[in-house]
Amino acid sequence: MADDVAKVIIVGSGMAGLTAGIYTGRAKLDPVIVEGIEPGGQLTLTSEVENYPGFPNAINGMDLMQAIHDQAARFGARFESADVVSADLRRRPFTVELDDGRTLAAHALIVASGARARRLGLPAEEAYMGRGVSTCATCDAAFYQDRVTAVVGGGDSAMEEATFLTRYARKVYVIHRRDTLRASPIMQDRARSKPNLEFIWNTVVEDLLVDGKGVKGLKLRNVKTGEQTELAVDGLFLAIGHVPNTEWLKGQLPTDDQGYIKVKPGTTLTDIPGVFVAGDVADRRYQQAVTAAAAGCMAALDAEDYLQEVGVV
Ligand code: NAP
Repeated sequence: MADDVAKVIIVGSGMAGLTAGIYTGRAKLDPVIVEGIEPGGQLTLTSEVENYPGFPNAINGMDLMQAIHDQAARFGARFESADVVSADLRRRPFTVELDDGRTLAAHALIVASGARARRLGLPAEEAYMGRGVSTCATCDAAFYQDRVTAVVGGGDSAMEEATFLTRYARKVYVIHRRDTLRASPIMQDRARSKPNLEFIWNTVVEDLLVDGKGVKGLKLRNVKTGEQTELAVDGLFLAIGHVPNTEWLKGQLPTDDQGYIKVKPGTTLTDIPGVFVAGDVADRRYQQAVTAAAAGCMAALDAEDYLQEVGVV
């Protein structure tokens, strides 16, 4: 059995997981990285990463993650292309069950399973995902050449999605539930400068108008006046924040009221010695590539300390 037990398993291959892979690899911990359903994580859905230090002229998100993947592999990280469906953190070694039926065991676990795009919760939303509803302009904008689209949200993601869409769509509406944007000034300015982008303020999307094949429009409600209107669009892009990916842990680690895993402040430590958490799955505040990288590094160093303390290395 002991030979089958990894020193450390990293769940997730976004910025936090891969950075943990580089550091645990360099520490000769032979990390096993379970890549999950979105290898490379959310940054692979981003066109230009402009705020990651070292790239003054921006870098494509996919290229950045491929480079970090290769860097982790160079130091010995082993990749499992599978998703984790459950874990048992109550017994040692820890075990994770994969969606291909295998079970992996490890002395230490780094949870870096990230977050996914939040949904509005509209009745037809899931059924029309990929058929008029999207959470990724970088992936889907080209389908809307010369068409009309709407983005819902008022944060950086909404500005980024909407700005990207203006390259393709004839018209881009940004529908926001307030009259003030949450997005950073530079992202706001960029969006506001686009002649084919129009804001619809104080408004929520109440329903999708669909025809069996795709989206035809939106039912909107002005939250100030209560007025209901319909807006003809060919596509709706959701950019209303994220939900942490913790279902596979099934309540084994404490979370906050929004489901983000709680760690001891300023560390990656959890209540369970040997289990460390890094990146967006524990970060409701910063959610940046560079903070996820930093947390991945910290988790790796914490895991290395732990494995030394318990005599595994
Ligand atoms: P966010 O900052 O949490 O913004 C979510 C937006 O969606 C808010 O404007 C919110 O409205 C709105 N919203 C939430 N739930 C809603 C609902 N049910 N119905 C309608 N609107 C709803 O999320 P984000 O934009 O994804 O950004 C997350 C983090 O990533 C931030 O730290 C951001 O800076 C970062 N980020 C950075 C970049 C970049 O630097 N290039 C790009 C993308 C994201 P309210 O404002 O009324 O709450």
